[in-house]
Amino acid sequence: MAGDQDAIALAERVLGILNEGGFSATYKFALFTAILDLCIEKTTTHGTPPDTLTTRQLADRVVELYWNHVTPYGGRGTLRQGGGLGQQATIVWRIETAREQWAGAQTDTAYRARRAHPVEFGALVDFVEWKLVEMPIPRLQVLGRQEDRFLYEYNWTQYVRHTSIAAHQRGTASDFDNRLLLRPGVAEHLVRLNGILRPLFYRAWAVMVARMNKLPEAELERFLFGSERTSLDAVRGPLRDIQDSRCFYCESRLAGPAEVDHFIPWSRYPDDGLDNLVAAHPKCNNSKRDFLAAAEHVEHWKARAKSHGTEFAALSTTISWPRDGDRTRSVATAIYSGLPATSRLWSAPSVFGPNERARILAALGDW
Ligand SMILES: [Zn+2]
Repeated sequence: MAGDQDAIALAERVLGILNEGGFSATYKFALFTAILDLCIEKTTTHGTPPDTLTTRQLADRVVELYWNHVTPYGGRGTLRQGGGLGQQATIVWRIETAREQWAGAQTDTAYRARRAHPVEFGALVDFVEWKLVEMPIPRLQVLGRQEDRFLYEYNWTQYVRHTSIAAHQRGTASDFDNRLLLRPGVAEHLVRLNGILRPLFYRAWAVMVARMNKLPEAELERFLFGSERTSLDAVRGPLRDIQDSRCFYCESRLAGPAEVDHFIPWSRYPDDGLDNLVAAHPKCNNSKRDFLAAAEHVEHWKARAKSHGTEFAALSTTISWPRDGDRTRSVATAIYSGLPATSRLWSAPSVFGPNERARILAALGDW
């Protein structure tokens, strides 16, 4: 069904948001969760999903989401959700301050705080709305250097002035347009995907907070499912030799320390086989993260497997490391063939390109 295909394609694009490293705070999780919530609650009783959300509605929801986060966690204080060393993400800090100021039984929930301090609560939402307009809303759909408005359109630029937003909030004349115009089908698909996407966002959000606060919880998933269970040290040197001391991705010299990357990301399939491992610059590896690589890299990858097959076989025996070229190739074929046409593939640091499906499958078919 075309509708299902569209929903899967949207889900793949949304996964890109989870994977994007451009956020130093947890805002992308809060903003996306707020969008998801609003798409659900604004669906009419006839089942018609909304086509517009406002920055005000999003700010209200984001305040509610963070409200429960700004109380002490265990023996610790409030958990950090961004900012530099020892700092708090601005939005979270502002909500935390409000909650402290109004401390008491009447403010243990956002609902009660709003009732007990309507004017001040309104000012808090004003602040959060301004901050969302400034950064997270324009930032959410950026992949690499490019913004691709696949979820929503909006009508302001980075030069939007705080005074325009404030005037709009006061209800006086303003050129600020507070609407997010959802792309056709987006709200409907997000409602359908809610059961899948929500746990993913909650989990990624929790992991980011755990890491920022150095909580032991951060290690659990890595312990259970992480690639670090097996040290990749043994393959680093040999891979570097096979690649003639060049980074697999940008092909320039590996002058400093090299990192070992899983060509098919570990998060998609845990394949530690030699063919799936490449040596790369820390910068290239860190930018690729859990993204799938573009066609030119798949072709290069195939070429490496073909021309160095004998060395890989020998290396597998020497260092007692698994190698199953057929499996690696099957995994790659299954993953790339299942990828929607609209997926963006990683090409170079901050550069993403189209999914050249035919070219990729041809390379994998001729392994
Ligand atoms: Zn490189």
